[in-house]
Amino acid sequence: MKSVLLIGLGRFGKGVAEKLSELGHQVMAVDRDEVRVNEVLSLVTGARIGDSTSQDFLQSLGVGNYDVCIVAIGEDFQSSLETTSLLKELGARKVIARASRDVHKKFLLRNGADEVVYPERELAAWTAMRCTSDSVLDAIELDSDYSLFELAVPKDWLGKSVGNLDIRKRYGLTILGTKRREKVSMAITPETVFTEDETILVVGKYRDVQKCFKI
Ligand code: ATP
Repeated sequence: MKSVLLIGLGRFGKGVAEKLSELGHQVMAVDRDEVRVNEVLSLVTGARIGDSTSQDFLQSLGVGNYDVCIVAIGEDFQSSLETTSLLKELGARKVIARASRDVHKKFLLRNGADEVVYPERELAAWTAMRCTSDSVLDAIELDSDYSLFELAVPKDWLGKSVGNLDIRKRYGLTILGTKRREKVSMAITPETVFTEDETILVVGKYRDVQKCFKI
Protein backbone atom coordinates (compact mmCIF):
# COMPACT_ATOMS: atom_id res chain seq x y z
CA MET A 1 0.00 0.00 0.00
CA LYS A 2 1.32 3.46 -0.96
CA SER A 3 0.44 6.85 0.44
CA VAL A 4 -0.40 9.35 -2.25
CA LEU A 5 -0.91 13.11 -2.17
CA LEU A 6 -3.24 13.92 -5.07
CA ILE A 7 -3.58 17.58 -6.05
CA GLY A 8 -6.29 18.64 -8.52
CA LEU A 9 -9.63 16.86 -8.62
CA GLY A 10 -10.97 17.54 -12.12
CA ARG A 11 -12.10 14.59 -14.25
CA PHE A 12 -8.55 13.27 -14.48
CA GLY A 13 -7.71 13.68 -10.79
CA LYS A 14 -11.03 12.13 -9.76
CA GLY A 15 -10.35 9.16 -12.05
CA VAL A 16 -6.94 8.72 -10.43
CA ALA A 17 -8.55 8.89 -6.97
CA GLU A 18 -11.10 6.23 -7.94
CA LYS A 19 -8.45 3.85 -9.22
CA LEU A 20 -6.08 4.40 -6.28
CA SER A 21 -8.90 3.70 -3.88
CA GLU A 22 -9.88 0.55 -5.81
CA LEU A 23 -6.24 -0.61 -5.60
CA GLY A 24 -6.26 -0.10 -1.82
CA HIS A 25 -3.87 2.87 -1.54
CA GLN A 26 -4.11 5.73 0.95
CA VAL A 27 -5.00 8.99 -0.74
CA MET A 28 -4.92 12.57 0.55
CA ALA A 29 -6.93 14.57 -1.99
CA VAL A 30 -6.52 18.33 -2.41
CA ASP A 31 -8.32 20.95 -4.47
CA ARG A 32 -9.05 24.64 -4.03
CA ASP A 33 -12.65 23.96 -5.01
CA GLU A 34 -14.77 22.69 -2.12
CA VAL A 35 -17.32 21.00 -4.40
CA ARG A 36 -14.61 18.93 -6.08
CA VAL A 37 -13.18 17.90 -2.71
CA ASN A 38 -16.63 16.84 -1.50
CA GLU A 39 -17.13 14.70 -4.60
CA VAL A 40 -14.20 12.42 -3.72
CA LEU A 41 -14.69 12.21 0.05
CA SER A 42 -16.05 8.67 -0.05
CA LEU A 43 -13.03 7.47 -2.06
CA VAL A 44 -10.12 8.90 -0.15
CA THR A 45 -8.56 8.60 3.31
CA GLY A 46 -8.12 12.35 3.75
CA ALA A 47 -9.02 15.55 1.95
CA ARG A 48 -8.18 19.24 2.21
CA ILE A 49 -9.43 22.38 0.51
CA GLY A 50 -6.62 24.77 -0.34
CA ASP A 51 -4.39 26.43 -2.91
CA SER A 52 -1.45 24.20 -3.77
CA THR A 53 0.63 27.18 -4.92
CA SER A 54 0.73 28.35 -1.29
CA GLN A 55 3.93 27.19 0.38
CA ASP A 56 2.35 27.34 3.85
CA PHE A 57 -0.58 25.20 2.76
CA LEU A 58 1.64 22.58 1.13
CA GLN A 59 3.96 22.55 4.13
CA SER A 60 0.99 21.87 6.41
CA LEU A 61 0.34 18.68 4.41
CA GLY A 62 3.78 17.23 5.23
CA VAL A 63 4.58 16.43 1.60
CA GLY A 64 7.76 14.51 2.49
CA ASN A 65 5.67 11.80 4.17
CA TYR A 66 3.94 10.62 0.99
CA ASP A 67 5.39 7.93 -1.28
CA VAL A 68 4.12 9.79 -4.32
CA CYS A 69 2.71 13.27 -5.02
CA ILE A 70 0.54 13.60 -8.12
CA VAL A 71 -0.13 17.01 -9.64
CA ALA A 72 -3.30 16.40 -11.64
CA ILE A 73 -3.88 20.06 -12.56
CA GLY A 74 -4.10 20.36 -16.34
CA GLU A 75 -5.29 23.63 -17.84
CA ASP A 76 -3.92 26.02 -15.23
CA PHE A 77 -0.29 25.51 -16.15
CA GLN A 78 1.00 28.25 -13.87
CA SER A 79 -0.53 26.45 -10.88
CA SER A 80 0.71 23.09 -12.08
CA LEU A 81 4.28 24.32 -12.47
CA GLU A 82 4.37 26.22 -9.18
CA THR A 83 2.89 23.27 -7.32
CA THR A 84 5.34 20.81 -8.87
CA SER A 85 8.30 22.98 -8.05
CA LEU A 86 7.16 23.65 -4.46
CA LEU A 87 6.52 19.97 -3.82
CA LYS A 88 10.09 19.12 -4.75
CA GLU A 89 11.50 22.00 -2.69
CA LEU A 90 9.51 20.81 0.31
CA GLY A 91 11.04 17.33 0.10
CA ALA A 92 8.53 15.29 -1.92
CA ARG A 93 9.99 11.84 -2.63
CA LYS A 94 8.45 11.43 -6.06
CA VAL A 95 6.42 13.93 -8.07
CA ILE A 96 4.30 12.84 -11.02
CA ALA A 97 2.87 15.81 -12.93
CA ARG A 98 0.22 15.97 -15.62
CA ALA A 99 0.94 17.76 -18.88
CA SER A 100 -1.81 18.96 -21.17
CA ARG A 101 0.40 20.48 -23.91
CA ASP A 102 3.61 19.26 -25.55
CA VAL A 103 5.73 22.07 -24.11
CA HIS A 104 4.52 21.45 -20.56
CA LYS A 105 6.41 18.20 -20.26
CA LYS A 106 9.82 19.84 -20.65
CA PHE A 107 9.07 22.58 -18.12
CA LEU A 108 7.60 20.22 -15.58
CA LEU A 109 10.62 17.90 -15.78
CA ARG A 110 12.97 20.84 -15.35
CA ASN A 111 11.04 22.15 -12.39
CA GLY A 112 10.78 19.20 -10.06
CA ALA A 113 8.69 16.53 -11.76
CA ASP A 114 10.23 13.05 -11.66
CA GLU A 115 7.72 11.81 -14.20
CA VAL A 116 5.18 13.42 -16.48
CA VAL A 117 1.95 11.91 -17.75
CA TYR A 118 0.14 13.37 -20.72
CA PRO A 119 -3.30 11.75 -20.64
CA GLU A 120 -4.85 13.43 -23.68
CA ARG A 121 -1.92 12.49 -25.87
CA GLU A 122 -1.61 8.96 -24.55
CA LEU A 123 -5.31 8.38 -25.01
CA ALA A 124 -5.23 9.88 -28.51
CA ALA A 125 -2.39 7.53 -29.53
CA TRP A 126 -4.26 4.60 -28.06
CA THR A 127 -7.52 5.54 -29.78
CA ALA A 128 -5.78 5.88 -33.15
CA MET A 129 -4.18 2.47 -32.74
CA ARG A 130 -7.30 0.76 -31.44
CA CYS A 131 -9.76 2.17 -33.95
CA THR A 132 -7.68 1.07 -36.95
CA SER A 133 -7.51 -2.54 -35.93
CA ASP A 134 -9.73 -5.21 -34.43
CA SER A 135 -6.67 -7.28 -33.48
CA VAL A 136 -5.11 -4.81 -31.03
CA LEU A 137 -7.04 -5.28 -27.79
CA ASP A 138 -4.71 -3.32 -25.54
CA ALA A 139 -1.35 -1.56 -25.67
CA ILE A 140 1.04 -0.05 -23.15
CA GLU A 141 3.74 2.25 -24.47
CA LEU A 142 7.15 1.27 -23.06
CA ASP A 143 9.14 3.99 -24.84
CA SER A 144 8.84 5.96 -28.09
CA ASP A 145 9.45 2.76 -30.13
CA TYR A 146 8.33 -0.25 -28.15
CA SER A 147 4.95 -1.19 -26.71
CA LEU A 148 3.43 -4.20 -25.03
CA PHE A 149 0.41 -5.34 -27.06
CA GLU A 150 -2.45 -7.64 -26.32
CA LEU A 151 -3.55 -9.12 -29.64
CA ALA A 152 -6.17 -11.53 -30.90
CA VAL A 153 -4.74 -14.79 -32.26
CA PRO A 154 -4.80 -14.60 -36.08
CA LYS A 155 -6.91 -17.37 -37.63
CA ASP A 156 -3.95 -18.77 -39.55
CA TRP A 157 -1.93 -19.15 -36.32
CA LEU A 158 -4.39 -21.59 -34.78
CA GLY A 159 -2.83 -24.99 -34.26
CA LYS A 160 0.68 -23.70 -35.11
CA SER A 161 3.52 -23.68 -32.60
CA VAL A 162 5.55 -20.64 -31.50
CA GLY A 163 8.67 -22.33 -32.90
CA ASN A 164 7.05 -22.76 -36.33
CA LEU A 165 5.74 -19.18 -36.49
CA ASP A 166 9.18 -17.80 -35.59
CA ILE A 167 7.89 -14.22 -35.35
CA ARG A 168 10.95 -12.94 -33.50
CA LYS A 169 13.17 -13.66 -36.47
CA ARG A 170 10.64 -12.66 -39.11
CA TYR A 171 9.19 -9.51 -37.50
CA GLY A 172 11.34 -8.66 -34.45
CA LEU A 173 8.40 -9.33 -32.11
CA THR A 174 8.69 -11.19 -28.81
CA ILE A 175 5.78 -13.24 -27.48
CA LEU A 176 5.72 -12.87 -23.70
CA GLY A 177 2.67 -14.87 -22.84
CA THR A 178 -0.97 -15.58 -23.44
CA LYS A 179 -4.14 -14.52 -21.65
CA ARG A 180 -7.26 -16.60 -21.16
CA ARG A 181 -10.28 -15.46 -19.10
CA GLU A 182 -8.27 -12.59 -17.53
CA LYS A 183 -5.49 -15.02 -16.47
CA VAL A 184 -2.02 -14.54 -17.91
CA SER A 185 0.28 -17.48 -18.63
CA MET A 186 3.97 -16.75 -19.18
CA ALA A 187 4.80 -20.38 -19.88
CA ILE A 188 5.71 -19.89 -23.53
CA THR A 189 7.98 -22.48 -25.18
CA PRO A 190 8.71 -23.20 -28.86
CA GLU A 191 6.10 -25.97 -28.53
CA THR A 192 3.30 -23.67 -27.32
CA VAL A 193 0.30 -23.86 -29.68
CA PHE A 194 -2.28 -21.03 -29.76
CA THR A 195 -5.98 -21.60 -29.29
CA GLU A 196 -9.01 -19.49 -30.26
CA ASP A 197 -10.08 -18.64 -26.70
CA GLU A 198 -6.89 -16.78 -25.78
CA THR A 199 -5.05 -13.58 -26.64
CA ILE A 200 -1.31 -13.04 -27.11
CA LEU A 201 0.95 -10.63 -25.23
CA VAL A 202 3.65 -9.30 -27.53
CA VAL A 203 6.47 -6.76 -27.12
CA GLY A 204 7.66 -4.91 -30.21
CA LYS A 205 7.26 -1.92 -32.49
CA TYR A 206 3.81 -0.99 -33.79
CA ARG A 207 5.10 -1.02 -37.39
CA ASP A 208 6.22 -4.64 -36.96
CA VAL A 209 2.91 -5.56 -35.33
CA GLN A 210 1.17 -4.00 -38.36
CA LYS A 211 3.18 -6.18 -40.73
CA CYS A 212 2.90 -9.37 -38.73
CA PHE A 213 -0.81 -9.03 -37.93
CA LYS A 214 -1.70 -7.51 -41.33
CA ILE A 215 -3.16 -4.34 -39.86
P1 ATP B 1 -9.82 17.95 -15.94
O1 ATP B 1 -9.25 18.10 -17.31
O2 ATP B 1 -9.09 16.92 -15.10
O3 ATP B 1 -11.30 17.73 -15.91
P2 ATP B 1 -10.25 20.75 -15.42
O4 ATP B 1 -10.20 21.05 -16.87
O5 ATP B 1 -11.57 20.83 -14.71
O6 ATP B 1 -9.56 19.32 -15.15
P3 ATP B 1 -7.80 21.94 -14.47
O7 ATP B 1 -7.39 23.35 -14.69
O8 ATP B 1 -7.08 20.91 -15.22
O9 ATP B 1 -9.37 21.81 -14.64
O10 ATP B 1 -7.69 21.69 -12.92
C1 ATP B 1 -7.95 20.45 -12.33
C2 ATP B 1 -8.34 20.66 -10.89
O11 ATP B 1 -7.26 21.28 -10.21
C3 ATP B 1 -9.55 21.58 -10.69
O12 ATP B 1 -10.49 20.92 -9.87
C4 ATP B 1 -8.98 22.83 -10.02
O13 ATP B 1 -9.87 23.38 -9.05
C5 ATP B 1 -7.74 22.28 -9.34
N1 ATP B 1 -6.72 23.30 -9.18
C6 ATP B 1 -6.20 24.10 -10.14
N2 ATP B 1 -5.28 24.93 -9.61
C7 ATP B 1 -5.23 24.63 -8.28
C8 ATP B 1 -4.47 25.14 -7.19
N3 ATP B 1 -3.60 26.13 -7.34
N4 ATP B 1 -4.67 24.60 -5.96
C9 ATP B 1 -5.55 23.58 -5.79
N5 ATP B 1 -6.30 23.07 -6.78
C10 ATP B 1 -6.13 23.57 -8.01
